[in-house]
Order: sequence, then structure tokens, then C-alpha cells
Amino acid sequence: VPRKVFSFDPPERFVAGTVGQPGERTFFLQARTGTRVISVALEKAQVAALAERLEELLEQVQRRGGAAAAEPTTIEGAEDTGPLDQPILEEFRVGTMALAWDSVDERVIVEAQAQTEAEAEATEPLSDAETGPDVLRVRIPAAAVWAFVRRAQRLVAAGRPPCPVCGLPLDPSGHVCPRQNGHLT
Ligand SMILES: [Zn+2]
Repeated sequence: VPRKVFSFDPPERFVAGTVGQPGERTFFLQARTGTRVISVALEKAQVAALAERLEELLEQVQRRGGAAAAEPTTIEGAEDTGPLDQPILEEFRVGTMALAWDSVDERVIVEAQAQTEAEAEATEPLSDAETGPDVLRVRIPAAAVWAFVRRAQRLVAAGRPPCPVCGLPLDPSGHVCPRQNGHLT
């Protein structure tokens, strides 16, 4: 089966966002250009890891003299706090993610591959292989990456408030606190 490659070069908007109530949020990566909207589902921890790795990548590029990777002092669209675009249809659930810096075009390439049952089936990242897991691939300039990173960090931090006793996230339906011998608080 030929793989589906959802390519945006660049997308008009590339964000992480959530659907649902605090504590029951579903996380998505979403790329949009015009009315073409592609959403892929992933875990909160994957959003956090992606933001961290993007930040590391851009810092690495800057250390090698790539001034284009610097975080702008003001980013157009950086305060994109809007919800995900509709429709939010899950194309696939994300397994492997890969990043690369294209030093010619000064773009970051972000690739999110669909989860496969056997990890061995995952394709070499950024390959032109015609078979393999479906993939969302975006190429974006550093300023858009920084905007993505800052939004993703806010999103991950904006989870459930911490329990004042144990620091674990509180659940809207109650919290079994390990520091209070499992009493529901
Ligand atoms: Zn607690």
C-alpha cells in the first residue's frame, strides 16, 4: 500500500492543540494551508518532547553560526492562542517523529510518522520511500518553529492544576492522593 505523505511547504499554520476538558485532553498536531487541514493525534509527552527537541535543534544551529535560527524578539503570530482549526479529523496516531535543519533553505523539517504495530516497519525519517507508515511533513522557517515551541510549552503546562499535597495533577472527578493514603480529596 503506498504511503500517504501529507506535505506542507510551508503550512500557513502549524500548531499543537487540544480537544476536550482539562484532564481528558486529546493532543493533536495540526497543519493548515487554506482549507486543507491535517490533524494527527499524539500523547502530551510527545508534544513536550517535540518542543524540547525543536528548541535544541535551533540552539544547535545557532551555535554553528546559523543566525536564521535565532528566536525573534517579536514573532508574527506568536500569540496564536486560538483553537485548532475545524474539522479536526484524526488522520493517524503519531509514532516516530524526526527533525532536520535544511541549511540551504533555512527551514526546519518536522516529520511525524503514523504509529506502526512493529516499530521495525517505521521508515527512515525524511525518506522518499513509497511504502511505509503515513507521514505528516512540514517545512517551516525558524520563526514559525519558535512560535510552535512556545505555544506547545504553554499547552503542556496548562494541564490540570497540581494537588496541594502531593503535586500530582488533580482530576475534575476527584483525586486519589498517594500522600494521604489514597484518600479521595
Ligand atoms: Zn494529592
